[in-house]
Amino acid sequence: MTDKMLKFVELDQQTPPKRQVKKRLEDFKEIYDEFIHSKAKEQSSRCSQCGVPFCQIHCPLNNNIPDWLKLAAEGRLQEASELAHSTNNMPEVCGRICPQDRLCEGNCVIEQSGHGTVTIGSVEKYITDNAWDKGWIKPIKITNEINRSVGIIGAGPAGLACAEELRKNRYKVTIYDRYDRPGGLLIYGIPNFKLEKFVVERRTKLLKEGGIKFEQNFEVGRNLSLGELKEKHDALLIATGVYKPREVNLSGHNLKNIFPAMQFLTASNRKGLGDKVEDFDNGQLNAYKKNVVVVGGGDTAMDCVRTAIRQNAKSVKCLYRRDKENMPGSAREVYNAEEEGVEFIWLSNPKKFIGSEKIKSVLAEKIKLGDADSSGRKKPVSIPNSEFEIKADMVIKALGFDPENLPKLFGDPNLNISKWGTIKINLKSMETSIPGIFAAGDIVRGASLVVWAIRDGRDAASSILKYLESKKINRTKAA
Ligand SMILES: Cc1cc2nc3c(=O)[nH]c(=O)nc-3n(C[C@H](O)[C@H](O)[C@H](O)COP(=O)(O)OP(=O)(O)OC[C@H]3O[C@@H](n4cnc5c(N)ncnc54)[C@H](O)[C@@H]3O)c2cc1C
Ligand code: SF4
Repeated sequence: MTDKMLKFVELDQQTPPKRQVKKRLEDFKEIYDEFIHSKAKEQSSRCSQCGVPFCQIHCPLNNNIPDWLKLAAEGRLQEASELAHSTNNMPEVCGRICPQDRLCEGNCVIEQSGHGTVTIGSVEKYITDNAWDKGWIKPIKITNEINRSVGIIGAGPAGLACAEELRKNRYKVTIYDRYDRPGGLLIYGIPNFKLEKFVVERRTKLLKEGGIKFEQNFEVGRNLSLGELKEKHDALLIATGVYKPREVNLSGHNLKNIFPAMQFLTASNRKGLGDKVEDFDNGQLNAYKKNVVVVGGGDTAMDCVRTAIRQNAKSVKCLYRRDKENMPGSAREVYNAEEEGVEFIWLSNPKKFIGSEKIKSVLAEKIKLGDADSSGRKKPVSIPNSEFEIKADMVIKALGFDPENLPKLFGDPNLNISKWGTIKINLKSMETSIPGIFAAGDIVRGASLVVWAIRDGRDAASSILKYLESKKINRTKAA
């Protein structure tokens, strides 16, 4: 970490108790190592080139990690970047936000032998950022465009990866997205301090320059039904993600200043992108000088608590019903949040939201972990008469997301969904119950990871290519 990033200032004494709260200068703009060349080289050289690359096996994209580490160690950075791009459409994004401790790095043989993992994600980021800086990353060039088109619904990582693979194969591609900017959760969900927006924007710009069309502010179900869109294309991909927030239906849940996580994070991301956000500017969605309580223990909850800290909240508390060891969020994120002054109240559940018009406090109860349920996780059980009150000016609900009702939204009851609302696909072909319509990403898996969305997008592209070739459709429907 650079000296600049390591400079800390103490916050005033009114901020959360016990822990000595530290706040990075420059509005916490950066959390990453500025991975200078020598450090990348040093880390790459640490790879033992072991015979069984567990890191590669545990990377959802099966990235050829040992080989690009070797190339980076030898200073052959352009080749390293080309190799990284051969399996991944956004290596610089994954290098920044993959939970490496659960994937590649957690399975590094050097880590397993107790000597600390090779920092694979940082090297991946370094290799790709360097390639961008050097101008080695170029838009796709098509000489002989095929007269067939694919429509993609959703400009998140699954849709973008699929679009790029299809375009490389000379097909016409149009991406439809209901937001004003492409990127999906990379733009409006994940905060800027984890993934800087320019990193996403330069990728989508490159795709546009490669001839992929983007139709923003276009919502399937509102602008056109699924069937109407299918009429315009030879095949479709649904990659719409999951956006329905899980509710906390407790007494007082309608009080003012209780927000779903995405509303809070989107406002903050829009502000960062320079948009005018009335509800942020009038203070409603701004945590400044507020006592903030975040309910939930996943990565979205961690993004909320860390965003609130950066907005200079008076205090930030995270209520989670299990203990630290059983938290779904990445250990690294919890560590970062604790470092920054977030107070975790483990083994606690909200019971009631208290206030007259606005939220004033949360009544919570203590929890103990009981027997394991069918998934093997210990069940949280309430401890009688253990209630306690937490002062709150703002509550953020971060309990996860479910799929929207797509057959209804898209106006197509023939689209089969699972009991969880995710789209059912043929696992081999990724085709939905409607011929010629495929699906990928969170809308199939449920809330997951960017790296899995990219993997699904790439797999879907392979299946769509096979489908188009087998159908020998030789006309273009798209405008
Ligand atoms: C707050 C937060 C933080 C996260 N942090 C991480 C992290 O650190 N690391 C990580 O790996 N993963 C993280 N994730 C998960 C990751 O962002 C998702 O798994 C990934 O973005 C899923 O990609 P996707 O393409 O399937 O969907 P999305 O990224 O959700 O994109 C779907 C797109 O479809 C569009 N859309 C939806 N409905 C319609 C419609 N009817 N018509 C047109 N367009 C539509 C949406 O506007 C959106 O742009 C995080 C998620 C959240 C919510
Ligand atoms: S894509 Fe993710 S899991 Fe794979 S090597 Fe990169 S950081 Fe590791």
